[in-house]
Amino acid sequence: MKRYLNVILCTTLLVGFPAAFGQPATGTMSFTVSMPQPSTHNFHVTFRCDGLKGEMQDFKMPAWMPGFYRIMDYEKNVSNFHAEDGAGHALPWEKVTRNTWRVVSGNAPAIILSYDVFGNTSFAANNYLSEQRAFIAPPGLYMYVAGQIQHTATVTIKLPADWKQIATGLDPVQGRPDTFFAPDFDVLYDCPILMGNQEVLQFEVQSKPHEVVIESVPASVDRQRMIADLKRTVEAATGLMGDVPYHHYTFLMIGTGNGGIEHTNSAACFFNGNSLGDENGYQRWLSYICHEYFHNFNVKRIRPVALGPFDYDTENLTNMLWVSEGLSVYYQDLVLVRAGLMTRDQYLEKMKTAITRFENASGHHYQSTTESSLYTWGTSGVGGDHNTTISYYDNGSMLGAMLDLKIRNESRNQKSLDDVMRALYRKYYLGKKRGFTDAEFRQECENAAGSPLTEVFAYVSTTQDVEYAK
Ligand SMILES: [Zn+2]
Repeated sequence: MKRYLNVILCTTLLVGFPAAFGQPATGTMSFTVSMPQPSTHNFHVTFRCDGLKGEMQDFKMPAWMPGFYRIMDYEKNVSNFHAEDGAGHALPWEKVTRNTWRVVSGNAPAIILSYDVFGNTSFAANNYLSEQRAFIAPPGLYMYVAGQIQHTATVTIKLPADWKQIATGLDPVQGRPDTFFAPDFDVLYDCPILMGNQEVLQFEVQSKPHEVVIESVPASVDRQRMIADLKRTVEAATGLMGDVPYHHYTFLMIGTGNGGIEHTNSAACFFNGNSLGDENGYQRWLSYICHEYFHNFNVKRIRPVALGPFDYDTENLTNMLWVSEGLSVYYQDLVLVRAGLMTRDQYLEKMKTAITRFENASGHHYQSTTESSLYTWGTSGVGGDHNTTISYYDNGSMLGAMLDLKIRNESRNQKSLDDVMRALYRKYYLGKKRGFTDAEFRQECENAAGSPLTEVFAYVSTTQDVEYAK
């Protein structure tokens, strides 16, 4: 566990003056998470709310996790739900929707919920507890009070006796061991926690600490190389965007498994550590980690309007995953080329593979990339039927290349897709503090090109065949 001085100061300010951030002047919400018998795969959660007013309170559990566009129905893993007031009297409750528990609190000054959460699937969108490791997929563990997503919260972790490591993007609370602070539930839900006895590596970029928490990576894999390469990757990505937008960043590298989910100042990446033993596997790992890292800009900060603030109850539909995912694929490898970690030939080979996969599947005759994005919730994205659907990862990276080349051509190489990303970051994330619409994204691309991009955007919204030679 690490502590960061600048973050602690920031945390103290937030705790001291919550009203300045739109929170109720009184009231606290605190979670305690324990793992009394890891072999049962059950987390035990207590959620204490002080200062809630009202005869009844609705407690909800999100239906999905941002970054994984699929309804997860997390509430199905909850058992042994119990509610009481601060004096130990049980409070009546009933389930009023599949993910809402209504507690008759009668204006009790404190409400204390307790419940268990079962987690036996090792994946970035699932809670997992075993005798070796625990992983918190936050929307599936923490309930929220209906209408109070903006409330601050703390989480205290009670580790099993022989575990020593807690890794998360959450800020630690000064003077309270193993306790973390979230300024609101969006941040709480965006900060997974990995616990156990993992190995911790570190590096800094522009004085910002980056923690790399690894497990199941063979001792023969060179740690110094891993750190040096990740540092160059972060430097290339932040150099492109012109900012290091967080106080600290945590790579949660979990083995074994597949798939990662990006977060605002962390990423949960499951992979097979043995694969790093050969050069191709190492290269694939770097691309994958760079993809999840680049998402801290593209989707967590530069984002379509539909992807934040989130509705945690239901699907949040957007046409724009080809931008959020596809352009992250485009940049994952371009960033590595710029960092000197991938050759031009390796890069072109990967682009060729993506184009070939897209062209060889009949889905591109039936589905555009905007449709693929919109319908991903029903098909779990890339897992859809390739006869009738396409991958917005492959197609999105192709479109990223087409946009970049077209903008460079139209502007006589004075502008590129980098300028679009930076403009979106400055104008919408830093300036307007919101996502962009489809039209606003296109406008920024056309601003960079200095001309209409009718042809490229026709490829986005139709199944028209691409003229590759052109
Ligand atoms: Zn992604």
